Amino acid sequence: MLKFYNKLYKLSILNQNLKKNVFTAIPEPPRYRALDFLSKWMQKHSDKKMKYEYAPDLQQRMIDIVNTLEMAHIKTDRVRCFRSRGSSTKRTIARCHALGKLMQHAMNTKAFYAIEFLEPFEKMSKKDQNRTIIHELMHIPKTFGGGFRQHDFVCDKNVKLLHEKFESLKSSGYNYQFQRELSL
Ligand SMILES: [Zn+2]
Repeated sequence: MLKFYNKLYKLSILNQNLKKNVFTAIPEPPRYRALDFLSKWMQKHSDKKMKYEYAPDLQQRMIDIVNTLEMAHIKTDRVRCFRSRGSSTKRTIARCHALGKLMQHAMNTKAFYAIEFLEPFEKMSKKDQNRTIIHELMHIPKTFGGGFRQHDFVCDKNVKLLHEKFESLKSSGYNYQFQRELSL
């Protein structure tokens, strides 16, 4: 069957070359599609050279954003920021990872989140970087249980709202430490 299919496929290419569109409606044989899929999958998962580095500066900015926006559900001692290098995905700026429920049980530990900042993040303006940090923090749910909030909530509109709030609090000289002391 596959041989027959391959023959047809070759014929269709031949016909394409001859500009006779007799067999052009025939899709690629499964083997070709499988190889194509496999090479794409390998490209995607061949991040063997990926390097992760703890990013204390981004950790500090993340803590500042959490405190300023009073995202009290985010336990910053259980969130770590990393820079990564060598990813084959060029379009991803940052991503949020979590220690899921089963792994928490297996390791007898509570939830933990890691925010990964990829190479394109470095080229962004500070404003866009802050917006990205806010976006990733918004993926962490109120329960802080190891799950994620999805993009129906973490959407441009909501990120923009929080980012604007952050900017205005910062420009008005809002000092969360002072606020905390006052409320004690
Ligand atoms: Zn997202």
